[in-house]
Amino acid sequence: MTGPAPTRAEIVVDVAALRHNVRRLSEVVNDGAAPTPVRMMTVVKADGYGHGLSETARAAREAGADWLGVATIEEALAVRAAGDTGRVLCWLTTPSDDLTEVVAADVDVTAYSLAELDQAVGAGEQAGTRPRVQIKVDTGLSRGGAPRSAWADLFAAAAGLEQDGRLTITGIWTHPACADDPDHPANDAQEAAFRDALALAEAAGLRPEVRHFANSAAAVLRPSARFDLVRCGIASYGLDPAPGRTPDLGLVPAMTVRAELAMVKHLQAGDGVSYGHRWVAPGPTTVGLVPVGYADGAPRSASNRAFVTIAGQQCPVRGTICMDQLVVDLGQVPAEAGDDVVLFGSGADGGTTAQDWAAAAGTINYEIVTRVGGRLGRRHVDTERGPRGTPPDTDHEEHP
Ligand SMILES: *Cc1c(COP(=O)(O)O)cnc(C)c1O
Repeated sequence: MTGPAPTRAEIVVDVAALRHNVRRLSEVVNDGAAPTPVRMMTVVKADGYGHGLSETARAAREAGADWLGVATIEEALAVRAAGDTGRVLCWLTTPSDDLTEVVAADVDVTAYSLAELDQAVGAGEQAGTRPRVQIKVDTGLSRGGAPRSAWADLFAAAAGLEQDGRLTITGIWTHPACADDPDHPANDAQEAAFRDALALAEAAGLRPEVRHFANSAAAVLRPSARFDLVRCGIASYGLDPAPGRTPDLGLVPAMTVRAELAMVKHLQAGDGVSYGHRWVAPGPTTVGLVPVGYADGAPRSASNRAFVTIAGQQCPVRGTICMDQLVVDLGQVPAEAGDDVVLFGSGADGGTTAQDWAAAAGTINYEIVTRVGGRLGRRHVDTERGPRGTPPDTDHEEHP
């Protein structure tokens, strides 16, 4: 890993990996099965899944992302503030949100209901522009989106508003519930329901620019669900949307969390480690102190279960993960205070990954990368170009 001398603990994001993953996913979804090119939306909500919203947005565009996707209007405005001028869709607003600014900023907004169509029209009047609106239909997730019983009225109203020049309907879309389980019957049912919605919309006179269904898992595992556009979040960051079910696509996890080993000590058989002595040394061993805890996003539920990588060796976490620190068993690994610890990273050379931490904590990789942070610094590197456009491997030469 390139970079300055190790600091206490930090997140390092490789933007070259982000670009690689976005390009790779575009290739995968355009593998020849689709009659027309499938466009790519890179989802950068939640601070780019913890990778940094502006850096992720820039990397995705460089890799050809046609769209960026975010949840909230604040996130959409942050994309604009970062200088992005391309198509952006946001999809989670509430009645008290004022959409004027996002509509003025040329962001496509999503309507789930007649009230939200009106909200968008009102914002367009305020902004002096014709808002671009996508309609989200609920095909079986029972989360956001218009329920089936409301589709006909919603499409009719949208078509009327469009004919009056008060908005443009740019998309119709839905979201799958079980895409990470390709054999789940809900996938077929949702896709069939979505096709019903599209037929109804067409009958109402709507001709949206994009029709979309797929998150990462569906984009990769369900070619029939790709439609005009796929919305890839987690896979863009190099993480597996359906662990154990996804073929190897050559995606590269972009985030590494690393720390400097704070201390090393020897234990005797019977020595208990950390709060509650939930691990007791069965024999003499050497342990190391890692200055990262649950306040920094190392889940406490991974106590006694997760592994870190030190000198290329996997070392188990021993005992309870504390707020600020955790203890690992070094065994025979010849580590010293000051050595580099990788909590998780790309997994190259057998190192630990965010997916390993998710499995240890009983959660999904999404939660690991979006929650890591706390007091950790975050640094972006570019293993193709080097930091800030310099060739790789030069950023630590300034102060030898
Ligand atoms: C978060 C989100 C996505 C991305 O999902 P991944 O599983 O991370 O690919 C796509 N669409 C919507 C509506 C989302 O909320």
